[in-house]
Amino acid sequence: TSSQPTFDTTIQRRKTRPVKVGNVTIGGGYPVVVQSMINEDTLDIDGSVAAIRRLHEVGCEIVRVTVPSLAHAVALAEIKQKIIKTYQDVPIVADVHHNGMKIALEVAKHIEKVRINPGLYVFEKPNTNRTEYTQAEFEEIGDKIRETLEPLVVSLRDQGKAMRIGVNHGSLAERMLFTYGDTPEGMVESALEFIRICESLDFRNLVVSMKASRVPVMVAAYRLLAKRMDELGMDYPLHLGVTEAGDGEYGRIKSTAGIATLLADGIGDTIRVSLTEAPENEIPVCYSILQALGLRKTMVEYVACPSCGRTLFNLEEVLHKVREATKHLTGLDIAVMGCIVNGPGEMADADYGYVGKTPGYISLYRGREEIKKVPETEGVEELINLIKTDGRWVDP
Ligand code: SF4
Repeated sequence: TSSQPTFDTTIQRRKTRPVKVGNVTIGGGYPVVVQSMINEDTLDIDGSVAAIRRLHEVGCEIVRVTVPSLAHAVALAEIKQKIIKTYQDVPIVADVHHNGMKIALEVAKHIEKVRINPGLYVFEKPNTNRTEYTQAEFEEIGDKIRETLEPLVVSLRDQGKAMRIGVNHGSLAERMLFTYGDTPEGMVESALEFIRICESLDFRNLVVSMKASRVPVMVAAYRLLAKRMDELGMDYPLHLGVTEAGDGEYGRIKSTAGIATLLADGIGDTIRVSLTEAPENEIPVCYSILQALGLRKTMVEYVACPSCGRTLFNLEEVLHKVREATKHLTGLDIAVMGCIVNGPGEMADADYGYVGKTPGYISLYRGREEIKKVPETEGVEELINLIKTDGRWVDP
């Protein structure tokens, strides 16, 4: 045993209640759930079934589908049945925009979760001269929202289904804007108003989101919401996402900047990376974020040095070869290092190490122990043999 002090670097997640969405649970200490949204027209039944399946096959655990009209709600019912018959039961969230209570009530019968946007429940008539709402006016509208929302809340509650209160920075209701400004506070108050309505009807299968396209706004809004909910004794899980993050490298970095910052604070129980690309492209980004933070381990963790003048082989090429040979394994850490300049500790305690030794030769490590020196040309093959000897190999 070692007497060295230790420091726990595990992320302490905010305690949340478990919310069941079909066969997946969000919150309650369950692994952070990965979700995305298909971009097919929901009226295209076969296209939507195929898109849901494609997403699920690459690791999307909950799939969102847009439902802009009653016809779409009916189509989604058919999609749900078809996916069960031809593939398996994938948890589906219906995104109900507008003040579409009829749509929401219909679709709630067929899928596991309904997402609503509080900013779209507007009863105030646009009045360009208006600059504020009196307390009485504010509450009067709140009462109307409650009346409108009640049947959906009761339906979801009685069916044991879930709701996401999905606030968007870009679509706050006017009275929230005038009262709290176009601010994280306005977003939080908007969510709290809907949460209170649900709670008053004894419905608590809630997930809340605070999306914004600006990362600092999004981060501030989620942090404020988590703080306010903790103060109020509310333990609802949070759905994280940066809206309109764009595409390519910057879209991924922008999403990661927002989502990972919050996850590192312990905030967030489900994530979606929104890219202007095929939705399947979002899933590896989600899993990479979770893996990098140590929240879920779904692939091999590669530790590799950036290479430098001391590098004894073509590091980029070798890392690529090692990855190609081992990427199907899960739960392993493999280090690929140009040399052992500062000792095996630099390999971050990887399970296996592939390290430059002398020109033309590499050393294989198991943990911090050097196992053998082999010609570089046999390096990858010998690494596989070592993993096999340890019984940690599975065929691809
Ligand atoms: Fe250079 Fe060696 Fe450091 Fe890699 S591990 S960057 S080769 S000194």
